Amino acid sequence: MYWKSYSHAEMKRIIFGALDENLNYREKPVLGLPASYLDPQVFYNDAPFLKDAPFLSTLIANPNHIGCHTLTASEPAFQGTHKIERELIALCAQEIFEGGDEEFDGYVASGGTEANIQGMWVLKNYFINEHKAKAEEIGLVYSEDSHYSMPKGASLLSLKKYVTSIEEDTRRITKESVFSQIEQAKKDGVKHFIVVMNMSTTMFGSVDDIVEISGWLDELNIDYRIHVDGAYGGYIYPFVTDNDHYTFKNPKIFSFSLDGHKMLQSPYGTGIYLVRKGFMHHAITEEANYVKGKDYTLVGSRSGANAIAVWMIMRTYGSDGWKTKINQLMQKTSRLCDNLDERGVEYFRNPKMNIITIKGKYMTPELASKYMLVPDSHDNAKWYKIVIMDHVTQGFIDRFINDFDAQ
Ligand SMILES: *Cc1c(COP(=O)(O)O)cnc(C)c1O
Repeated sequence: MYWKSYSHAEMKRIIFGALDENLNYREKPVLGLPASYLDPQVFYNDAPFLKDAPFLSTLIANPNHIGCHTLTASEPAFQGTHKIERELIALCAQEIFEGGDEEFDGYVASGGTEANIQGMWVLKNYFINEHKAKAEEIGLVYSEDSHYSMPKGASLLSLKKYVTSIEEDTRRITKESVFSQIEQAKKDGVKHFIVVMNMSTTMFGSVDDIVEISGWLDELNIDYRIHVDGAYGGYIYPFVTDNDHYTFKNPKIFSFSLDGHKMLQSPYGTGIYLVRKGFMHHAITEEANYVKGKDYTLVGSRSGANAIAVWMIMRTYGSDGWKTKINQLMQKTSRLCDNLDERGVEYFRNPKMNIITIKGKYMTPELASKYMLVPDSHDNAKWYKIVIMDHVTQGFIDRFINDFDAQ
């Protein structure tokens, strides 16, 4: 994994260059597009600081990134910034997820929810188009610790759901539940499976054992394709892990989602969907005739500034800088775990993640509420989680520990 870090001057040169390649509504007689720059009464483009602010300048120029730019020729009016989105997709697929020289498709989605649903949608249509599956013969498999975008997607796409169970303390998917769910699915007439693997769950930071679980699925001799939900872990786990189980080197993985707007601290609206070449076309909307290159994404119009924001953060750090930052968060997380160990507190923590989920019995609801710890369920809290984000200073952690001892 490697990508270079750029100076602010270098990024300005690239982004302002891209905006120059885009259509300028102030210069060209654009009579046919239902689009323009941001409202100039409110977002005037001659504020002096804008010449040093490539992201805000992109926001104001307001390029539309509708469509999927890795797949087809898209709207020439915004080709400059589309190129940066293409580079972003390639960086994520080839560097973060070790795709090597292989090419990938993808786009910047509204969030992890959309990227996950896009993943299910592509695979559903793939089974229908390539395996002559009927819609009711397709099942969605995910664990009970999975994000709620899975049931949401199953509802939208009318997929039958098969939810596997988790062992309470280890947060591991049980073999027994995989076998019984698949058996039930077969009884229901399901012949093809979309399997979601969590490269970190939201609540626990647990990572599904993809090697072991795909081994079980092979043993069951079913037709399945894996989508990885990396919405939470995508900008963390790959940076502290040496094995390639959760990379495109694993031939079982078809697609990934990851979220810029969680760990990367980019603006909301920066989910990322990545898929191997040869699958994206299954999500085509043939009727998207006014979009040059048609549309293959769930969302429709979307702001090009989002892609610029993610690209800028990744290019500011470079891969080495990002690894350093994530390692520092890991150390801070481990230090808090040591504090909890000294006190005999039971918690779950994946050593490759920055989440600590503490058993509810060790904490008063008042303490949890003072530090805004999120319960696993707002009705009946069995666990509370701590997420070591950028703003979580050692001072905050020390105060928490003091209050913890005093409760
Ligand atoms: C946050 C999250 C999502 C959903 O992402 P949004 O960006 O809120 O749509 C999906 N899966 C996991 C594991 C997440 O942490």
